Amino acid sequence: MDTVFRAPLTADDVKAKAKDFGADIVGIADGRVMDEFPPDPENPRRPVDVTDYDGGRAIVLGKRLLSGPTRLPRWDERHKYYNDELTLTMLEETALDMVLWLEKQGYPALIIPPTHVDPWLYFGKPAQHLAPLLSASHAAVEAGLGTLGLNGQLLTPEFGPRLMVTIILCSLDVEPDGRSTEALCHGPECGRCLKACPGDVIGHWDRDWQGCDRYRSPHGFKEVSDFLQKVLEAPDSDAQVKLVRSEESFNIWQSTLRGAGVVTGCRRCQDVCPVGADYSAMLADALDEIAEDNPEKQARLDAMAKAEAKGEMPEAYIRQRRWITPS
Ligand code: SF4
Ligand code: SF4
Repeated sequence: MDTVFRAPLTADDVKAKAKDFGADIVGIADGRVMDEFPPDPENPRRPVDVTDYDGGRAIVLGKRLLSGPTRLPRWDERHKYYNDELTLTMLEETALDMVLWLEKQGYPALIIPPTHVDPWLYFGKPAQHLAPLLSASHAAVEAGLGTLGLNGQLLTPEFGPRLMVTIILCSLDVEPDGRSTEALCHGPECGRCLKACPGDVIGHWDRDWQGCDRYRSPHGFKEVSDFLQKVLEAPDSDAQVKLVRSEESFNIWQSTLRGAGVVTGCRRCQDVCPVGADYSAMLADALDEIAEDNPEKQARLDAMAKAEAKGEMPEAYIRQRRWITPS
């Protein structure tokens, strides 16, 4: 597109517009910096892998999760799944409004889906964890919105980890934000995310993502695939019909209907994290107690804190330091 048709825009114009459309927080990362520092150099997912032309800036939009469902302590709460799915829908609508507006100003733009994964990397293993096309959490750190926590979740000063983020790629000539300089996570001495995790999948600045997926997406592809296999392998047609009419199949149907329980699910680690201005104001009275905590988890956290005090940081931390402790 000829630059003559491009309206002059500043970073403030872009952010104000995103907030008008419904974003709670907005940051702008430099796409070329993201190209230079992919979160996983062995499997780089960079703006340049998506577009040759329009990845100059990554505009990161965040929408906070509702506090009411956060105050429900069970991880497998359908109200949570549903309310979060509505937040995701609203975030997607905000991103689409933004792209339509940017294109009206003369700047081609595209949305990176926050939940979808790269189909080229599916190798017939339904349980295998597949990462999104670009990591929105890492992009958010590059855009100055926050830093990563003990389990790799994005923490922000406003909402802690209780938000959803998405990325718009666009080659706008506006000033990008720098990374935040303040690390927000309190580390293993806090460890509330680990204490609350129902799957016990959180490690030392690490997470077993495959183990987590069974909770984050409890009625997702793995469950559908397991269920269909069970139907196919049932001994006779009566057993097959019984399975088709089971609660399992009802849950899959209900989740597929809106994505609640597929693109949303467990977020217990996000609920109990004390980072974020919303925690003491809206959540602490309902979430301070952690029913899933036990002495074995506490012993593991103590060992992590002890190792850190001696300066022994795990490999996972060293790999992710750029986004955990930006200064
Ligand atoms: S989403 Fe649930 S299972 Fe996954 S790390 Fe958080 S608390 Fe654990
Ligand atoms: S709960 Fe504590 S340890 Fe976990 S991410 Fe939040 S601040 Fe860090």
